[in-house]
Amino acid sequence: MARYTGADCRLCRREGSKLFLKGDRCYSEKCALERRPYAPGQAGQHRVRETEYRLQLREKQKTKRIYGMMEKQFHHYYEMANRQKGVTGENLLRILESRLDNVVYRLGFAKSRDEARQTVRHNHITVNGKKVNIPSYRVKPGDVVAVAPKAKDLLPIKSALISSERTEVPSWLEVDIEKLQGSVLQLPTRDQIDLDIQEQLIVELYSK
Ligand code: SF4
Repeated sequence: MARYTGADCRLCRREGSKLFLKGDRCYSEKCALERRPYAPGQAGQHRVRETEYRLQLREKQKTKRIYGMMEKQFHHYYEMANRQKGVTGENLLRILESRLDNVVYRLGFAKSRDEARQTVRHNHITVNGKKVNIPSYRVKPGDVVAVAPKAKDLLPIKSALISSERTEVPSWLEVDIEKLQGSVLQLPTRDQIDLDIQEQLIVELYSK
């Protein structure tokens, strides 16, 4: 699956908001957006006229980048969300949140979604006792996501667990740090997703 391989901090500066793509660094004074709070490039400090289209586009780009998606895959998720019952924007966020790499990150087994993706790809994660190495695998209520026995002493995982900046585990998940495993209690409702995203703007953009 194709993925963005450029500088993560440029993406935050482009969106003008912290996307938390680099683990501990995002919470430190080294954060590039804290030091240079304007868009990258020569025109970065020029005022840009806000249009409805631009707002919608930026919201979509921001969301895509938070979850580390490329356009094709993100659009595929939008179409899936649109076919489901309920509010399309909320369905979209629920689908994104239920990806295995996101769940590994949310449980605190990785410092960023990117790191979580690598952890999954390298066979370090099990779902219901079986190894799953597909980051886009979607969990369901009742699933148990765990660090594989052989991976329990790996430095990135240990480091993520002891990181003082670990974000709180959301209420739709439950984690057992001793066992290095977590349970999916339910799929998240909108108020359980702590991201500053106006998903309706994404729906408006794709509905044109
Ligand atoms: Fe974004 Fe983190 Fe880089 Fe700050 S350090 S600009 S939050 S990726």
